[in-house]
Amino acid sequence: MHSAMKNPKKTYSLRHFDDVGAVPIYDRANAFMAIFEDLIKKGLTIKRVVHSPAGSHVTIADNITGERKPMLMFGSNNYLGLANHPEIQERMKKYIRQYGVGLGGPPLLNGTTALHKALESRISALKKMEETMLFTSGFGANMGMIPALAGRQDTLIADKFCHASIITAIQQTKSRSYRFKHNDMADLERALAQAGEAGSVNTFVVVEGVYSMDGDMAPLDRICALTRRYGAFLIVDDAHGTGVIGKNGRGTAEHFGVEGEIDLLMGTFSKTLASSGGFVCGRRPLIELLRFYAKTYFFSASAPPVLVAQILAGLDIMETYPELRSALMNNVAYVVNSLNDAGFNVTTDSAIIPVYVPEKADIRAISRRLEDAGIFINHIEYPAVPANRQRFRVSVMSTHTRTDMDRLINAFIEVYNSLGLMKDRPA
Ligand code: PMP
Repeated sequence: MHSAMKNPKKTYSLRHFDDVGAVPIYDRANAFMAIFEDLIKKGLTIKRVVHSPAGSHVTIADNITGERKPMLMFGSNNYLGLANHPEIQERMKKYIRQYGVGLGGPPLLNGTTALHKALESRISALKKMEETMLFTSGFGANMGMIPALAGRQDTLIADKFCHASIITAIQQTKSRSYRFKHNDMADLERALAQAGEAGSVNTFVVVEGVYSMDGDMAPLDRICALTRRYGAFLIVDDAHGTGVIGKNGRGTAEHFGVEGEIDLLMGTFSKTLASSGGFVCGRRPLIELLRFYAKTYFFSASAPPVLVAQILAGLDIMETYPELRSALMNNVAYVVNSLNDAGFNVTTDSAIIPVYVPEKADIRAISRRLEDAGIFINHIEYPAVPANRQRFRVSVMSTHTRTDMDRLINAFIEVYNSLGLMKDRPA
């Protein structure tokens, strides 16, 4: 019997259905559905439907009543506010007229237009890399790249905090794998030494530029030096770094002065560039090899040209208006300082600010209270993070005003005070 159905009196949650278990699939699905419906009734699910452009102010259908209501968005990766930018929309209209909407084929068959080639060159220039290939999602980029690179004779070493797309990709390989303690250079070095002793032919180190749940950066200067010393190969997922980190927004490698020193750099268009799709860039022979062996590239249709046009327009805006990035950074500093003044103890290196929740507190109940205060914010609960590290993940945008940010901060103070949580906050 599935673990989720053994004890009818126990309070179960979605995490109990993670394990496939030796049960017929519909038994598992029906048990899951019962719990899911209960969560919907209580308004505790995270399925929120948006009825407006994805800006700093959005219109959301209430989970319980279905009624539409205005909310302040602090849960979006649309860091520079490009999701609803008029210049980008105009450009998209032009390219819809020129190219229509979809391509109906993968890149190596009928899925490459001049726009796709232009975007590849543009990313190569931005990232100071030789060649770039495009994927239809960042998740797909990691899922295509990693299994195409690493075989039985190789070792994959990844930071413990790496994103699900990296971890799932590693699980698809037959390589030895090791997860080193988050940003712990001594543990990384131990893993590199062990891989050498085990006779690993290729050792790949995988890290993120900015960690998506914590907002901190990987020390890429030290990681580059370490991987080079051990003859290993470095892969960096800079999904949250592009457009945010570095003097010119070129990403975490720019910040650490290691541009061009990373073997494979992956990124996504779904964050700052407010579109969808991903990319991998590196030396030309490697990228050409990946075009044929990354299955999510070879066997999957290309992004519609209009999305590519959106991304190119977004890059133009990002480069023409550096003040958007400065506004973002000023906003992040304001939110961090104000939350700290209120006693919350937060830090970040990026536009993601984790606000931790005391272990005994019910994060979904706090989330509901914040929602009632009109704040759209994502809560990250166990098992996505350890039980004592549950958190709200505040994402700041350049388009938030002082009034918006003050509303967020006051809502946190009011909800934490009313639930008596201020004294229990984890440091
Ligand atoms: N890598 C990281 C670090 C991410 O945070 C994400 C998105 N959450 C992805 C990859 C996947 O990107 P996409 O949304 O483009 O599939």
